[in-house]
Amino acid sequence: MSQELMIFPWQHAVWAGLIAQRKTLPHAMLLRGPAGIGKLQFAQALSKALLCQQPQADGHACGVCASCGWFAQGSHPDFRLLAPEQDQADEDAPAPAKTTTKKTQISVAQVRELGGFLELSSHHNDGVRIALICPAEGLNVASANALLKMLEEPPPGVVFLLVAHQPQRLLPTITSRCRKVDMPVPDMQGALSWLNEQGVDQAEVRLAYAGGSPMAARDQAEGSKPLELILAQLARGAGADAYSLATMLNALGMAEAMRVLQKWLYDLLACRFAVQARYHILHNAALQALAKSVDLAQMLELQRKLDDAYRSATHPLNNELQLESLMLQYVQLFSAKTRT
Ligand SMILES: [Zn+2]
Repeated sequence: MSQELMIFPWQHAVWAGLIAQRKTLPHAMLLRGPAGIGKLQFAQALSKALLCQQPQADGHACGVCASCGWFAQGSHPDFRLLAPEQDQADEDAPAPAKTTTKKTQISVAQVRELGGFLELSSHHNDGVRIALICPAEGLNVASANALLKMLEEPPPGVVFLLVAHQPQRLLPTITSRCRKVDMPVPDMQGALSWLNEQGVDQAEVRLAYAGGSPMAARDQAEGSKPLELILAQLARGAGADAYSLATMLNALGMAEAMRVLQKWLYDLLACRFAVQARYHILHNAALQALAKSVDLAQMLELQRKLDDAYRSATHPLNNELQLESLMLQYVQLFSAKTRT
């Protein structure tokens, strides 16, 4: 029942430490660490456990009490999750114009709504109420200041859990009111064995591509077909089909397309200087071969244009045209007769 709220093997020590202080936890905690290591899942499991009416000996939620039932249904009256809201308007847009842009900010209206929730008294369980905010760097200046007021005078029984991938972007006044909890990053072996348990194939290759994040590696395994086709095309260098590349990349969305291309060029540059590919270990040989004929000046120019393209990304149709132009330049990188 509660398997989706399991904590990860590399989090057991942090979990035990917090659970041991269950009755005396500070009113605000900042769970910080790089993206993709399971911080949100940990925060949710902790919330569920703190609200549970009959927690197990190891501190985990029982999964059967009324409180756990509400939590599993996403309707717990004493729990609020604040996250950037999905842009609803896009859902109704006609298919070609449909974008998958997510809002990245937590609005002041959301924080005010949270204030209303905090004024109510709790429904159950010794007055514990939990506000989970993820990612906390999604707070803009206005919403951060609204939250600050609540952190300064927290209502009794309320626990604020802030999750941050980039804690340095938070207002220092917010950070200073939270206990900092450094969330552990799994080592290579821990990440690999977890991925293997999840049945992820080519775990090592995927972990490298995901820059060491096991969650990103698993997500990538689940939706990896389009990406593999793109990488196979890129690996053809001068023989790549720029137009089909543009179409496939555009389908990923501009942000993801740029990440894919930046990683590829990063590895190409590494191979140009006789270093092994860092992200694309499966394509290392192809990259090494491509690096021999790549025009370095043009490649640096292309990298700069990727940044510009991302910043000026607008409509999907325009984006595809822009991607076509970029991919035609990519093919050109390998067409020069002489190396610079
Ligand atoms: Zn329970």
